[in-house]
Amino acid sequence: MDHPTKDITIIGAGPAGLFALFYAGMRETSAQIVDALQEPGGQLTALYPEKYIFDVAGYPQVLAKDLVKALREQASRFREPIHLGHAITGLEEADGHFVLRTERDRFPTKSIIIAAGIGAFSPRRLPQPCATPWYGRGIYDVVTDPQDYKGQRVVIVGGGDSAFDWATQLRGVAAHVSLVHRSDKFRAHGATVTQFEEDVKAGRASMFTFHELADVLCKPVGERFTHLILKQVKTKETTEIEADVVLPMLGFVSDIGPLADWGLTLQKHEIVVNQLMETGRAGIWAAGDVTAYPGKLKLIACGFGEAATAVNQAVHWMYPEKKVAPGHSSNMGVFGQKDD
Ligand SMILES: Cc1cc2nc3c(=O)[nH]c(=O)nc-3n(C[C@H](O)[C@H](O)[C@H](O)COP(=O)(O)OP(=O)(O)OC[C@H]3O[C@@H](n4cnc5c(N)ncnc54)[C@H](O)[C@@H]3O)c2cc1C
Repeated sequence: MDHPTKDITIIGAGPAGLFALFYAGMRETSAQIVDALQEPGGQLTALYPEKYIFDVAGYPQVLAKDLVKALREQASRFREPIHLGHAITGLEEADGHFVLRTERDRFPTKSIIIAAGIGAFSPRRLPQPCATPWYGRGIYDVVTDPQDYKGQRVVIVGGGDSAFDWATQLRGVAAHVSLVHRSDKFRAHGATVTQFEEDVKAGRASMFTFHELADVLCKPVGERFTHLILKQVKTKETTEIEADVVLPMLGFVSDIGPLADWGLTLQKHEIVVNQLMETGRAGIWAAGDVTAYPGKLKLIACGFGEAATAVNQAVHWMYPEKKVAPGHSSNMGVFGQKDD
């Protein structure tokens, strides 16, 4: 599908990208975001939604997921689209315009702001080769609706927040929930771990610490598996358990991927920019964790400032009659304000 041409296309719906989308609207240009993940928020959504952040200006403390909600609300003011589930894989340039490509779609654009953070995330897969053929047929690494697992025997692999959050959320929906983890140390919130441990004590769930997946079995023969073999990592003893579904919750891997081939100057996995957030390729700016410059700090607060700089530069480059300096939002007609 070919999407309509926008003035600015932002790669990444992390905090820098979401603020850039708002800012582009404030500067009265058309814009869109394209992100590989199914949810906006970048690292805040994928890695620490339930953690408090204390160093975002104006918020004495804010849950990461609540900051994302506020950024979304602010960005939605100008009704510009956020295209989720689209990893940018290619870039074309012709007649002074760009086209960003994903596997299925094309996003024509006059300018680009790369706010790709530490790269496109994808769920980390189970390392055991026996699991590979079952992905999509009983092993799922993205959970959207707990009701999909109604009445099923679910095995969750992992020891972080996602593992315990889903283990507790599936209680009362799944027929049985088992959690399998390679150690007895958990990275999850203590209260959720305690809640799940109480379920285990009450016989409503099972926990296998110091265990990993050893095999996936169909009994006797069938399209879906019915049993798993777990291996104790220290003693190597095996245990067979009944299971219909495995949900690996092993975190995410990230990859800057095709952006590395766009002729930009890279420093490790980051894009070198100057103080104008210019990447060295005309029409392409960068903001947020993906940037490298002397004194760079990988912080949300810094990403906001970089996003504003990048948008203001892009606007002036596309429309020289528009000044770089945006003026004050408290005086802007776009918000229904009058000049003092
Ligand atoms: C556990 C943890 C705690 C933290 N706590 C704090 C804190 O307290 N305070 C603070 O200031 N910072 C904190 N940080 C850092 C902060 O989260 C980052 O600085 C911030 O997320 C960077 O925002 P960003 O928008 O640049 O990138 P990201 O949040 O990384 O978002 C980038 C987005 O780009 C997308 N993307 C990348 N490549 C592609 C592609 N090819 N196609 C499509 N989409 C793509 C990704 O899917 C992702 O959604 C923390 C980080 C972690 C991991």
